[in-house]
Amino acid sequence: MDGLSDLYQELILDHNARPRNFGPLPAATHNAEGYNPVCGDQITVHMAIEGDVIQKVAFEGKGCAISKASASLMTDQLAGKSLDDAQKLFQIFHALLAGSEAVPQEDEPQLGKLLAFSGVRAFPMRVKCATLAWHTLQAALKNPSTTAHITTE
Ligand code: ZN
Repeated sequence: MDGLSDLYQELILDHNARPRNFGPLPAATHNAEGYNPVCGDQITVHMAIEGDVIQKVAFEGKGCAISKASASLMTDQLAGKSLDDAQKLFQIFHALLAGSEAVPQEDEPQLGKLLAFSGVRAFPMRVKCATLAWHTLQAALKNPSTTAHITTE
């Protein structure tokens, strides 16, 4: 399994060095800022939603490699998904990182590249880094017209 975790680490380092969808999103309908005081990660998530479909997600901010790579992969994975599917994916991702039970095998394919974060499970402090962008996205969905500021506890 060593080769596999090397591959995952490479994916995280790549998304940290070259984050996808990084920058402002002029067409955004939903925005929120998230802050993880444990690590100092600060991320702003922008979303353009039409009907119940997420057309595009972008993010800005600074943070550790895990928080940035997680935000980058999230923006890739959610573009074109319905709000329901996005919620489901977040639940599966959260279960992967911090669930009391392993993710059911039939749910794993939905995670795709997000499986790269499975190793974070062993480091509870870093779980907040990996889920910051997702919690910020939830805040944006709840407050579409204002900029919400969330801090993960
Ligand atoms: Zn962090």
